[in-house]
Amino acid sequence: MNIVVCVKQIPDPADPGALDPESKTLKRDGKLILDESDSYGVEMALQLVGDSGEVTLVSMAPNGEVSGLRTALAMGAAKAVLVSDDALKGSDALTTAKVLAAAIGKAGEYDLVLAATESSDGYTGVVPEQIAAVLGLPSVTFAKAVSVDGGTVKVDRQTEAGYDEVTCPLPAVVSVTAGVVEPRYPSFKGIMAAKSKPVDQLALADLGIEAANAGWAGAGQEIVEVAAAAQREAGEIIEDDGEAHAKIVDFLSNLKVI
Ligand SMILES: Cc1cc2nc3c(=O)[nH]c(=O)nc-3n(C[C@H](O)[C@H](O)[C@H](O)COP(=O)(O)OP(=O)(O)OC[C@H]3O[C@@H](n4cnc5c(N)ncnc54)[C@H](O)[C@@H]3O)c2cc1C
Repeated sequence: MNIVVCVKQIPDPADPGALDPESKTLKRDGKLILDESDSYGVEMALQLVGDSGEVTLVSMAPNGEVSGLRTALAMGAAKAVLVSDDALKGSDALTTAKVLAAAIGKAGEYDLVLAATESSDGYTGVVPEQIAAVLGLPSVTFAKAVSVDGGTVKVDRQTEAGYDEVTCPLPAVVSVTAGVVEPRYPSFKGIMAAKSKPVDQLALADLGIEAANAGWAGAGQEIVEVAAAAQREAGEIIEDDGEAHAKIVDFLSNLKVI
């Protein structure tokens, strides 16, 4: 079984940089790292494939950035396809999905495409479903467990009340939730091996996509405003005067958690 994993390379959340004041998009000039959200997809793919197939990474990122891809290759993925092209600057979610779908077409034979439910930086949470639509494949979202049985993928799909058991024919696109598996740390041997694993770098022309349909020129979305996230309010401190337990019970029952 061969699995393609979409991995987004993002600015380090510990040093996230700044927004471009004009375009209101995140500046991505410096080093990019593997989005933690996608480390779960990589780990799940490695576990599903075992010794009987290959994991291929697909990423779209500026400046030929491969640092995040190398991390996922060091975890055990076999190879990667990177799409990097100046004309992609300003691409919205749908253009990103079209580019990734075209790159997946260059990744060889595959049975399953994995992505995260949402990225950690400028997330919209729609790219995996758009990739599925572009490729004409079924899409299963919010996977908290994934197994493959012959030509079928079985997914425990997280819901507000628990989970649904979903089966779907392969090939399919499945987006996994954070924490679904414990991503492995790359070993020293893995890090050394990753340096020589193939990364196929493609430009828009290699995918048959016109520059006029990508980047700012092709964006159907517009970022009209960016606002700071609301500050978290200080919590309430309950002093124990002998009745603190009742106040805590009231508080929790108001939240409907008990
Ligand atoms: C008008 C406009 C202009 C924009 N301009 C830029 C820009 O110049 N530069 C820029 O970086 N962003 C830009 N963005 C943001 C960019 O469109 C999104 O970051 C991008 O579409 C990915 O979407 P997401 O992070 O919301 O994906 P989500 O749907 O939240 O991601 C879910 C999963 O999809 C996969 N995925 C998503 N993106 C990628 C990727 N690039 N490579 C591989 N896998 C991926 C990953 O598995 C990810 O975890 C712009 C957005 C708009 C609306």
